[in-house]
Amino acid sequence: MTAQPNPHYPKLLEPLDLGFTELKNRVLMGSMHTGLEDREKKFPRLARYFAERAEGGVAISVTGGFSPNLEGSFYPGASKMSSSREVKRHLQVTGAVHEAGGKIALQLLHAGRYAYHPLSVAPNRIKSPITPFAPLALPGWGVKKQIRDFAAAAKLAQKAGYDGVEVMGSEGYFINQFLVEHTNRRTDEWGGSFENRMKLPVQIVKGVREAVGPEFIIIYRLSMLDLIEKGSTWEEVVTLGKAIEAAGATIINTGIGWHEARVPTIVTSVPRAAFTWVSEKFKQEVNIPVCTTNRINDPEVGNDIIASGQADMVSMARPLLADPDFVVKAAAGRADEINTCIACNQACLDHTFQAKEASCLVNPRACHETELNYDKTDAPKKVAVVGAGPAGLSAATVAAQRGHKVTLFDQADKIGGQFNMAKRVPGKEEFENTLRYFGRLIETTGVKLKLNTRATASKLKGFDEVLIATGVTPRKPDIEGLDHPKVLMYTDVLRDDAPVGNKVAVVGAGGIGFDISEYITHQGESPTLNPEEWNKEWGVDTSYQTRGGLKPKEPSAPAREVTLLQRKDESLGKRLGKTSGWVHRTTLRDKNVKMMGNCQYHKVDDQGFHISVGDEPMILDVDNVIICTGQESLRELLAPLEEAGVNAQLIGGADVASELDAKRAINQGSRVAAAL
Ligand code: NAP
Ligand code: SF4
Repeated sequence: MTAQPNPHYPKLLEPLDLGFTELKNRVLMGSMHTGLEDREKKFPRLARYFAERAEGGVAISVTGGFSPNLEGSFYPGASKMSSSREVKRHLQVTGAVHEAGGKIALQLLHAGRYAYHPLSVAPNRIKSPITPFAPLALPGWGVKKQIRDFAAAAKLAQKAGYDGVEVMGSEGYFINQFLVEHTNRRTDEWGGSFENRMKLPVQIVKGVREAVGPEFIIIYRLSMLDLIEKGSTWEEVVTLGKAIEAAGATIINTGIGWHEARVPTIVTSVPRAAFTWVSEKFKQEVNIPVCTTNRINDPEVGNDIIASGQADMVSMARPLLADPDFVVKAAAGRADEINTCIACNQACLDHTFQAKEASCLVNPRACHETELNYDKTDAPKKVAVVGAGPAGLSAATVAAQRGHKVTLFDQADKIGGQFNMAKRVPGKEEFENTLRYFGRLIETTGVKLKLNTRATASKLKGFDEVLIATGVTPRKPDIEGLDHPKVLMYTDVLRDDAPVGNKVAVVGAGGIGFDISEYITHQGESPTLNPEEWNKEWGVDTSYQTRGGLKPKEPSAPAREVTLLQRKDESLGKRLGKTSGWVHRTTLRDKNVKMMGNCQYHKVDDQGFHISVGDEPMILDVDNVIICTGQESLRELLAPLEEAGVNAQLIGGADVASELDAKRAINQGSRVAAAL
């Protein structure tokens, strides 16, 4: 009997027949290096992490990257699959996933010239801009060894119980480095013509198929859009795709952009499903299933992609870190309960690129499934949470999930705290989803929400525990003339819609100084909501007439003349997110924002803003000066509560303002509530 289509997302949840096996739906959990892969002792955590995603309905997950040999590993001691000694630890991962009814593939990733060690190898000795090590150019026999190592690693993966492997052929790694002239200047049989350059991936897939036999899934991640100068042409992509199909691949997954590309591919300001057009174009050329990827974080978007024939599967990695139950919630018509990935990268990729364990800003349990659990309490307490920003929201909902009787107070008329300002910045629209998620969780967990209510110590006396999540207040720097009408705090602009003139100085170049500058230089609809405009701003050639799919950028004109200032004598935005900071810096440069460091601020008066840069005094003739100089904790409730003998704890910005950020706030709120 054939199963009935799911009434909510029939196409996304339709099985996919691969001939020798079937996937129960179209959701592939894309590869994401979590940092748990590198140490054997962390494998029980890796097993639980993948098992929860399989229990949550994912058809097939792909692990983080494992190198087929030492030279291809990312850094000394990084994950690899190159000896039978390494097989055993994987059995717990594959066993746990199978027990949960899912499938799992091991990703084979050879870093090539992106590796962080002196043994790295590549087609030629051309150093990459993202590591200090120049790779060794492989001799011909060395190339053949790499092919054999891929095949041997796939065989080991099969022994370890995996249902398949994903051969990582994109993102500028080893295989990609052979494909394009940018990194392949060889004159032997592995270089020169495209036929020669593509021999490496084709022989790898052939070698892997021979090693594993016909009934094993081989996913090939193909760089469909390099987004670099001298990248592949469309014709080359198609030629390669057909050859990879003929060599024995089961599924072709989409790869977008090299790590050194000048176009952002996954940050929050990238429109949803921004690159699915290229998977759709590619799908016309091959007969095996094609999986699309990048900024798909919503079941409706995924379903539309499959229903309209743009792709056969959708890959989501970060959305499944954010919510392991994404698929089961969608299947049950509870999509509004999905904890949506906001593509911030703050706890996942930013950690990975700093060699720290990954987690998730909106779900601190990600990669901590064995130690952070929200078990039911045997001793329910009366808990008050004061402040409905990220810290208060996470604390209140985790405590209520555990069976405590929770009342959440906020003096504002809506939940969200600082997130209500963040979501107004063009490119940060996704932040609204976190508020939708918490709003729904408040309903489903039975948190009593008291908005427009200022909680006082006397009101809080009857509670067993009080969590003070009252957040922060903007810091007022010591600058003469701060009460001049030209001066605005960032809250006046982002929260209260204060009118802003044409010439503006922004004081303080932290996350909020950058946010404000983006907000006031932008006019009209956010390009994140208008993919055509976004492609124009970043120079993505959707007609694919050019190598790499690039064309000149056409940023829209800035709405204002902005100067962004800081006291530190270093480049502005240097301390922003590792994987997103460059996007913010580029956006502001494209809007002609003047960035000045090494500033001293003297006074604001009718003439303008009096400052010095180094020893040079100057007056900035501006209509407004917007202050974004950090925050101070709001914690006036603590002392009276302590005096009244009430158990009270500070969380989030009320606890530490200098590190005010949602990652820390949600993590702390969840952990404090998990321990109540
Ligand atoms: P922030 O990052 O602490 O930056 C404020 C800046 O103001 C500092 O970099 C400092 O730079 C300057 N400053 C501090 N005290 C000053 C004083 N007394 N007088 C003059 N200048 C002073 O604070 P924020 O921009 O408000 O951001 C707060 C938090 O929100 C951050 O931790 C960040 O993680 C988060 N956030 C992140 C993003 C993002 O894009 N990832 C976006 C928004 C917010 P100088 O001393 O060099 O002048
Ligand atoms: Fe998504 Fe941010 Fe979580 Fe990463 S940290 S999975 S980008 S919400």
